Amino acid sequence: MVEVERRLLERGHHFAPGGHWSPSDCTPRWKVAILIPFRNRHEHLPILLRHLIPMLQRQRLQFGFYVVEQTGREPFNRAMLFNVGFLEAMKDKAWDCMIFHDVDHIPENDHNYYGCRDMPRHYSVLLDKYYYALPYEEFFGGVSGLKVDHIHRINGFANGFWGWGGEDDDMWNRVHNAGYSVSRPKGDIGSYTSIPHHHHGEVQFLGRYALLSKSKERQKVDGLNNLYYSPLVVRRPLYTNITVDLSRDSAPLQNYD
Ligand code: BGC
Repeated sequence: MVEVERRLLERGHHFAPGGHWSPSDCTPRWKVAILIPFRNRHEHLPILLRHLIPMLQRQRLQFGFYVVEQTGREPFNRAMLFNVGFLEAMKDKAWDCMIFHDVDHIPENDHNYYGCRDMPRHYSVLLDKYYYALPYEEFFGGVSGLKVDHIHRINGFANGFWGWGGEDDDMWNRVHNAGYSVSRPKGDIGSYTSIPHHHHGEVQFLGRYALLSKSKERQKVDGLNNLYYSPLVVRRPLYTNITVDLSRDSAPLQNYD
């Protein structure tokens, strides 16, 4: 990581602490925070940053990266990490667009513009691991993005998805319950390569279908509005690192069976 930081800094890029960057020759159309949920993927992060930073600079976006790292013994909770990243990023700056980004997804096409749209956006449409085909119409995983006011409106992500699977499907439901539709890049613009890895996959969350069947009722009571956590925030040259120990008590559900 230190090597990537050194090389990007040496190339004359001027980053404010935490990796904030803004073009000096124009007013950027979007102020974008990129949120990356993280655990045990130290070899992936420099690869992602090395690809994304030059791409976002060419797109003349203002941006900052937030790596949200889960500690503790609970299964990985991608959705709750996004909620934490969102709340922490908004304490930092008045971002107007949030990108929810898996650490191992590398965009293949520079025209995949990481600004937001009027509607929520799904960027990672065609993944090499799914043979460059959308696995199903409601697929919302990998890389997605929403305007900040939309995220508030839908109460963020659901916090109850512990382990692999379902949280992105629930987000798709939230977006549609709020009356939005999802836009996607056309043709092969939304193509991505996944970085291969040797880790054991996260445990599957077997309760996901039960939770998904209650997406609508839970949307009001589970999300940004029931989240309690104590972050450790560290500014690095290219990103802000937010470490959180998540537990079931981090998002208690009140008045819900
Ligand atoms: C899971 C999603 C996942 C998708 C593609 C679905 O069964 O619920 O979370 O993104 O499969 O792997």
